[in-house]
Amino acid sequence: MKIHEYQGKELFRKHGMVTPRGFACFSVDEAVEAAKNLGGSVWVVKAQIHAGGRGKGGGVKVAKSIEEVREKAKAILGMQLVTHQTGPEGQKVRRLLVEEGAAIAKELYVGMVVDRVTQRVCLMASSEGGMDIEEVAAHTPEKIHKVFVDPVKGLTDAEAADVAAKIGVPAASVPQACALLKGLYRCFVDTDSSLAEINPMILTADGRVVALDAKLNFDDNALFRHPELMEMRDLDEEDPLEIEASKYGLSYISLDGNIGCMVNGAGLAMATMDTIKLFGGTPANFLDVGGGATADKVTAAFKIMLSNPKVKAILVNIFGGIMKCDTIAAGVVAAAREVHLSVPLVVRMKGTNEELGKKILKDSGLPIISADNMAQAGQGVVAAVKAAAAKKAAAKKAKAAPKAKAKPKAAAKKAKPVVKKAKKKPAKKAAPKKPVKKAAKKVVKKVVKKAAKKAKPAKRAPAKKTKKAKGKKK
Ligand code: GDP
Ligand code: MN
Repeated sequence: MKIHEYQGKELFRKHGMVTPRGFACFSVDEAVEAAKNLGGSVWVVKAQIHAGGRGKGGGVKVAKSIEEVREKAKAILGMQLVTHQTGPEGQKVRRLLVEEGAAIAKELYVGMVVDRVTQRVCLMASSEGGMDIEEVAAHTPEKIHKVFVDPVKGLTDAEAADVAAKIGVPAASVPQACALLKGLYRCFVDTDSSLAEINPMILTADGRVVALDAKLNFDDNALFRHPELMEMRDLDEEDPLEIEASKYGLSYISLDGNIGCMVNGAGLAMATMDTIKLFGGTPANFLDVGGGATADKVTAAFKIMLSNPKVKAILVNIFGGIMKCDTIAAGVVAAAREVHLSVPLVVRMKGTNEELGKKILKDSGLPIISADNMAQAGQGVVAAVKAAAAKKAAAKKAKAAPKAKAKPKAAAKKAKPVVKKAKKKPAKKAAPKKPVKKAAKKVVKKVVKKAAKKAKPAKRAPAKKTKKAKGKKK
């Protein structure tokens, strides 16, 4: 879970860290009021969205009069802020932070993440803070200093002082920098963060060290023990489909492709996405319906996948272990009827009550494409997407009288969907891609066929194993 900068700074202050004074505002009038309350002669008006890079996108402005605060607030509030983290559609600004302005002498960088290799919190710090830290990491990684913190000792004074000196904090300001670093470590641990960042941490003209920005991401799996953090959640900043999915206890993550996936178990879901990719498709989502999915849950999952207009086909891949295949099949049929399923549906199910499940699908009379193994499922759904696209294109063509485009017509006999795609895109790009893709596909087909033949005798064993493993976990 992510939070806003102003919320992060509240948490920073609770941990004794120095930040500028400021107020969160939801209207232009509130922003003006906040500036008056703060006093002084320079203010900063900052867009509050869950993405970084706001400064470059025009979401952070310095104001030198109350009138200017009003102007900047008016300009930023409600704007569609585009940054390198929001994607081209941007994110609407609904909240502002109005702060006292700081006189910046130097911008430094401080961040913390959990390092999986050492299994420790890793403190990263650099003298090159500010808006181009990504460039620093990419081109001059030696300018980023790291400390892997011992969880028993915590971040020590010596470690903090050493890092502070390395990133150019003058001796007189080192104790302040240490306090900030140690505060950040405590904050990180106390809140079960997965990422904490101060960029920039600044040195002011008078030698003070201040956290000018605040970014905290929390580990969702630890949120149950932080009701106070849950209150900071801002649903406006989250993907509406992911919010809907979380209501039903579905693990759902939106992706860029056009094949909806409904799978039970995160591992099988990952393998399913890999299989789709292998056959040239792209998944529209990750969706793990979990071990105890009911018909209701399955219906909800279908609705969520289908409310994504990009979805052109759905692949259901279920292992019937704790969950029985017939339950899932009944859920799939009910859901397909309820949502008037209009895209091709490929179903692969294995395990407990498999035959019964398949019978339910067959008897439903719905145009469900049945697949027996992963490769069939992947190939089937990718083919279904292509067929649907070809059908659509053909219908379009029939509508608009064909104009003088002789070349693609002649080639269309063999590989319809591929040619259709190539037609839309500039010919230069599409031409070299085609044969490569085709060739790769052939190879994949062969490999899969071979693998399938080899794997046949051992069919039951892996299923049993998985079951056991699951049982052990619980
Ligand atoms: P981000 O771009 O989303 O990371 O937003 P930041 O909070 O880091 O702000 C971007 C930049 O605005 C900072 O790197 C500073 O250069 C500048 N900035 C932020 N607050 C102040 C301030 O109080 N005074 C001055 N002069 N610049 C500021
Ligand atoms: Mn920043």
